[in-house]
Amino acid sequence: MSEPAVAVARYLGTTTAEGPGVRTAVWVQGCSIRCAGCFNPHLFAAEGGVPWSSTALAARVLAEPSGGLTLLGGEPFDQAEGLAAVARRVRAGGRSVLTFSGYTHAALRRAAAAGKPGVADLLAATDLLVAGPFRQDRIDHQRPWAGSTNQEFVVLDDRFPDLVDWQAGAVDRVQVDVDRTGAVAVNGWLDTERLDALLAALD
Ligand code: SF4
Repeated sequence: MSEPAVAVARYLGTTTAEGPGVRTAVWVQGCSIRCAGCFNPHLFAAEGGVPWSSTALAARVLAEPSGGLTLLGGEPFDQAEGLAAVARRVRAGGRSVLTFSGYTHAALRRAAAAGKPGVADLLAATDLLVAGPFRQDRIDHQRPWAGSTNQEFVVLDDRFPDLVDWQAGAVDRVQVDVDRTGAVAVNGWLDTERLDALLAALD
């Protein structure tokens, strides 16, 4: 049987803007949820991204000087089989896994119980789940990493105190990268108003 592949839209070896501490962030291509106001509509289409085998992607993550992996998108649970294999390997390497999903935790549990491939495995390989669709009418200005107040933080495994105590001293950061061509990439979460103000201040 061939190894499940993962379509990767963006990869950041180290960042402090996508969860506690220094983490490796992987944005996957494709999201079937399509929340109104999503900041990543270019990741909706399932086509695209760069295909990675789960073994190669996990090895790349484990070679980074980071404390854990953050999966976001796109929708990680739309590629649950491949990402479960990646997450399992990353955790076996002693690093934590934080997974963002537009599905609620209840919906994921139902999908797992119904046998949807990879869902139970990705839940089992995730330490902290941030779950629920983005609601543009419920912007979250308080909690780090969450886009809207309906999204729930679910601790699925307590091996990593920084993930369990996500509220204690957690800082909401935004990272702005400008490459040599002048292309700007932003990660972390800010509402449109504050993001526009930040980018204007950077001239
Ligand atoms: S689940 Fe996430 S990536 Fe998908 S549409 Fe909603 S906010 Fe965007």
